[in-house]
Amino acid sequence: MRIQPSHPPSPKPWTPVTESRVSGTNEPGPDGPGSNGASGLRPAVFLDRDGTIIEEADYLSDPEGVRLIPGAVEALSLLRDAGFALVVVTNQSGIARGRLTVEDYKAVALRLDEDLASHGLTLDATYFCSHHPDFTGDCPCRKPATGMHREASEALGLDPEASYFVGDKKRDLLPALEMGGQGILVRTGYGADQEDGLPAVFQIADDLLHAAGLILSR
Ligand SMILES: [Mg+2]
Repeated sequence: MRIQPSHPPSPKPWTPVTESRVSGTNEPGPDGPGSNGASGLRPAVFLDRDGTIIEEADYLSDPEGVRLIPGAVEALSLLRDAGFALVVVTNQSGIARGRLTVEDYKAVALRLDEDLASHGLTLDATYFCSHHPDFTGDCPCRKPATGMHREASEALGLDPEASYFVGDKKRDLLPALEMGGQGILVRTGYGADQEDGLPAVFQIADDLLHAAGLILSR
């Protein structure tokens, strides 16, 4: 299964930036949670990127600025080995704001892919939203909207109700309320400032590795 790049421009306002790479290493094992559902669909972890997998850096446009958060590689490995699809969904309003270009974004995304690959890890897919309502109007993809999650679910055969939504902002978690999964806030990035008023249905983890532990202990 492949997610086609949006060239020529897709009618859809969000852009799947990387090919789906449902490689052998990411397929659920025979006893993994991906094989348990009556639906035959895989559970996923929908992951925010900035402040969740890599260190928050405002409008990151330089691949040299990619810094994996300690424990992130181990967390992603654990989740992959448990049969979860790893899907990055990232708001990149810096593109709408003129702070970086789509090409800048793709260079950063490629660096992250390379860094993860050096640890034997492959994301199943990465989606980004380049919009911001003040600059490009409303869109169906900017989190907390669910356009990216829905696109990924359709393309990859995911089960949102069996999935987790992890990030350092409330808006990373809110799609869980609409789609039926579970949300976990991480305290990295902006997360420590997001705890006030967080709906009680969401869990809080110190970082992505802690979040992975919460997911795997269920
Ligand atoms: Mg973030």
